[in-house]
Amino acid sequence: MLTIIFSLITLPYAPDALEPVISRQTIEFHYGKHLQTYVDNLNKLIVGTEFENMPLEDIVCKSQGGIFNNAGQILNHNLYFTQFRPVTGNPSPVTDIPSPLGDAIDRSFGSFENFQKEFEQKGTTLFGSGWVWLSADKDGKLVITQETNAQNPITKGLKPLLTMDVWEHAYYLDYQNRRAAHLQSLWQIINWDEINRRYMK
Ligand code: MN
Repeated sequence: MLTIIFSLITLPYAPDALEPVISRQTIEFHYGKHLQTYVDNLNKLIVGTEFENMPLEDIVCKSQGGIFNNAGQILNHNLYFTQFRPVTGNPSPVTDIPSPLGDAIDRSFGSFENFQKEFEQKGTTLFGSGWVWLSADKDGKLVITQETNAQNPITKGLKPLLTMDVWEHAYYLDYQNRRAAHLQSLWQIINWDEINRRYMK
């Protein structure tokens, strides 16, 4: 029987392209070692289970325990690593956030600045390891959620758009304990065209 093997995604940029916001060393560990380990673990764990040959999103929605943890972390990191582009500076809400995403942000949060403030606050106050997410509900309204450990908003019926990883492995080499400073710097490397594409899908 042919078995689908999950593989490490390809980064859409060079390992040092996000510096100084995310260093090459952090990419080498976070993408090259942490994400690779989740991929290797999942490929071993699903052998001979109902999850063999199941799409990743379905595994995340249907599994528990070790399979869920590794599948969730692969989905989370795939969305995380493909949402960045080389540093171009802080976004201007008028010129850098394409619509319909930009309009939806204004409708849902009042302004881009309000959205950024709430997103950073929810990322900073998430206790322990996890992820802060911007997602769309079925009506296209945007919500920000805190998800612990390997959780992903798709398990709540939401469409995940943008995320910040607040596991310490995402920032400790570059920022040590300064999680808020790390989150604040990430705005400089978000590929808003990609987030807008996810919103329109
Ligand atoms: Mn991570």
